[in-house]
Amino acid sequence: MSPLVTHSDGIPVAVETTKEFATPVANDIASKLLPDEYFRARLSAVSKNRTTDGIRSVLHLEQTPGLISLLAGKPHSSTFPITSLTFTLRDPIDPSIETPIHLTQAELDEGLQYGPTTGIAPLTEWVYGLQKAAHGRDKGEGWSVTIGNGAQDLIYKAVTALVNPGDAILTEAPVYAGVPPMFQTMLCDVHEVETDADGIDTSSLRALLESWPTDKPKPKVLYTVPYGCNPTGMTATLERRLEVLQLAREHDFFILEDDPYHYLYYGSHPRPPSYFALEKDQPEIGRVVRFDSLSKVLSSGLRLGFASAPNVIIKAMNDHTMVSNLQPNSLAQILAVSVLTRWGYDGFFKHTERVSQFYKAKRDVFEAAMRRHLSDVAEWTSPEAGMFMWFKLLTGENGADGDSNEVIRTKALERGVLALPGTVFFPNKRTSAYVRASFSQLGEQDVDEALRRLRVAILDSR
Ligand code: PMP
Repeated sequence: MSPLVTHSDGIPVAVETTKEFATPVANDIASKLLPDEYFRARLSAVSKNRTTDGIRSVLHLEQTPGLISLLAGKPHSSTFPITSLTFTLRDPIDPSIETPIHLTQAELDEGLQYGPTTGIAPLTEWVYGLQKAAHGRDKGEGWSVTIGNGAQDLIYKAVTALVNPGDAILTEAPVYAGVPPMFQTMLCDVHEVETDADGIDTSSLRALLESWPTDKPKPKVLYTVPYGCNPTGMTATLERRLEVLQLAREHDFFILEDDPYHYLYYGSHPRPPSYFALEKDQPEIGRVVRFDSLSKVLSSGLRLGFASAPNVIIKAMNDHTMVSNLQPNSLAQILAVSVLTRWGYDGFFKHTERVSQFYKAKRDVFEAAMRRHLSDVAEWTSPEAGMFMWFKLLTGENGADGDSNEVIRTKALERGVLALPGTVFFPNKRTSAYVRASFSQLGEQDVDEALRRLRVAILDSR
């Protein structure tokens, strides 16, 4: 919050707006926080050149008691045609219990009006509480949150804030197909880092970084999906996460932790801590930029996600929001926060546990059908989170890896089944024997029929 001084008429006014995040930090944490200058030096040229919007940067002052605002061009809510909003909410513990929720006038007014760039206060406060409960991170420890139109919006803003055209970047491979286009349009030098069932292959990452040419700037970011990865379904082990954190420190890069499947973990072992949680015990804090999504646990159509990252990076992302879309959708935020605060964190965790069990059951059905139809023509590892099965087609000759592209794009489609060939998930478009199949939607019969058709397509192409 900007410092205020009292004007001669007794009304507080802002004197400067650049130190929005200057909150006191506990000593043990403060000594490990990378300083603001560290982050400022690493912002992209685009980000360094952004200016803060003169209206939006002081919008939050409208909340000051006693202040009369002549500031923003907000339309008057009495001209809006929607006068009330009621919806029905499932109980997180017993979903058969449904309760009608009627938004209060104040909630409705907030939902229909322009709001803060970072997201509405009740939602950002809820996110701070969640990050404390789920990752042990306290508000005021040098990081802050911002809400976006889905995690995708925020990943793009973080990439734009940190990466310059032509920069070298690291991404796990295979990788969520929604991210490489961000790097490709910036003509980045994309380095794929191999993954296996335990996560990022840290020995090849270390080898890559240790043999990095001395005359070439090292990569600034590493993108990874640490739980129930899209497409591989893998969840990185604690050991691998710690190694990646150490490499980030040794070779000076940020970890973009994209974690929309965090709450869809259904593995048999306790869930390993997130990068965001683990970095608190690192000798340096500030290398993790974390993205959460409400898409898989509340609704994907609401388009809500949140980023938790060092203050300077969040400010750079907010400066982007100010010029691109002003703010996240107010009504979506009001709907979400009215659900989340009514449930409380306990209710949220109960709900997400139920959702993860739902996908576990879907995985089991899918895997049983794979065993029936594909056991002699494909190989796979069972995912422990998320909604994807990643399997290798055994179509290559003499035990070599084949290419799933032809089988999936032509033969499978002719037989009436649609999936994605592995090549889609490699930024450098290498040939892949793998296939990604989503098991989130189909019932048992459709799964069985889809895999029966796929089997015919595979045999047909041998
Ligand atoms: N990251 C990953 C790994 C995803 O799988 C998705 C959704 N498919 C997203 C980000 C985008 O999430 P959101 O709906 O929150 O924008």
